[in-house]
Amino acid sequence: MLSIGLEVFGSSEAGSAVMHLVRENLFIGNIGDAADVLQNGSNEITHVLSVLSSASISFFSDWRSSLTIPTKEIKKVYAGGSEDASDSGEVCPTLVDASKSCLSPGKLLYSLEYAGKDLKLVRMAVPIRDMESEDLLDYLEPCLEFIENNRKEGSVLVHCFAGVSRSAAIITSYLMRSERLSQEDALESLKQSCEFVCPNDGFLEQLKMFEEMGFKVDHDSNIYKRFRLKVLGDWYSRGERIDSSMLAPDPGLSVELSSKVKTVQNGQTGCAFIYRCKKCRRIVASWENVVDHIPGEGETSFEWHKRRSGNPFNKDDEYECSSLFIEPLRWMKAVEEGALEGKLSCAHCDARLGYFNWSGIQCSCGSWITPAFQLHKSRIDGSTI
Ligand SMILES: [Zn+2]
Ligand SMILES: [Zn+2]
Repeated sequence: MLSIGLEVFGSSEAGSAVMHLVRENLFIGNIGDAADVLQNGSNEITHVLSVLSSASISFFSDWRSSLTIPTKEIKKVYAGGSEDASDSGEVCPTLVDASKSCLSPGKLLYSLEYAGKDLKLVRMAVPIRDMESEDLLDYLEPCLEFIENNRKEGSVLVHCFAGVSRSAAIITSYLMRSERLSQEDALESLKQSCEFVCPNDGFLEQLKMFEEMGFKVDHDSNIYKRFRLKVLGDWYSRGERIDSSMLAPDPGLSVELSSKVKTVQNGQTGCAFIYRCKKCRRIVASWENVVDHIPGEGETSFEWHKRRSGNPFNKDDEYECSSLFIEPLRWMKAVEEGALEGKLSCAHCDARLGYFNWSGIQCSCGSWITPAFQLHKSRIDGSTI
């Protein structure tokens, strides 16, 4: 039976069953490897992490119609909350804050099921497409936890379709964290086990961010905030509607501010700055909303050099930023209306505070910020809490 299975799988490009040992109890493979393990069982593998464009087990039978793999659902977890199969759909506490992550609320984060022959295997399925623009970061934590926990008792196979990009990206992040390796060193080390692994460039960039964030996904870091802005910009340019659930909470609403103040009092952050409308004193942003940039640097710093050379005696002034760039917030009604660009006006007194533009704004220092949500420093007052 096994040999017949292998022959069948061997007939397709992604079908040759050749999973590779990466570390003790940790394997990387392609869809053929996973299908073989799930259909025929395995003396070695106890847990399967599937990273395919769909989390449904029907992906396997769509790929090869002769495959029917029995499953029994354990649970499904969604961004913004979870739903447990044994719990008749009751929503559990928030697991991923949808206003901070790149996942829209209600999007499937992962599913967990018993699978395969005699339902002996545990399969975690994570829906990720192999595209550069795909958000990998927000799926990493559950994947890394699954690998770490189950390697102790059994053996884990991490697989995607070809065993080249998605599964390799996840195992690279696992090696980065568990062995404190840079993105480059972890990938190099993985190549020792499986030479043809090659995560796509978007995943490599995100793994670099994962390294810079200290081998974790820190939604409050400037690195993640810039990434999220870029993802929002991609959504916008694809014509997807940006609704208030994707915008960060309004710090001007008292409930939301008091929770921030508590965070500061607990000593979790050192620079508790808030920004108010100069005219009416309404709070318009907090330190948490600021997305920093390095003055004078940006995607199109070339233009800045051009400008600077025209004004060689005034370099210092040009480094000064006259604007504060922040993430989009729920008081920015104009953003929700779907315009490409527009004024940002105070939600209380309607005074003009700044401007937004999905295709970018150049700061006075020369940097291009894309997309940009800009408050003029002359229209706001900053103070510590
Ligand atoms: Zn600037
Ligand atoms: Zn105002």
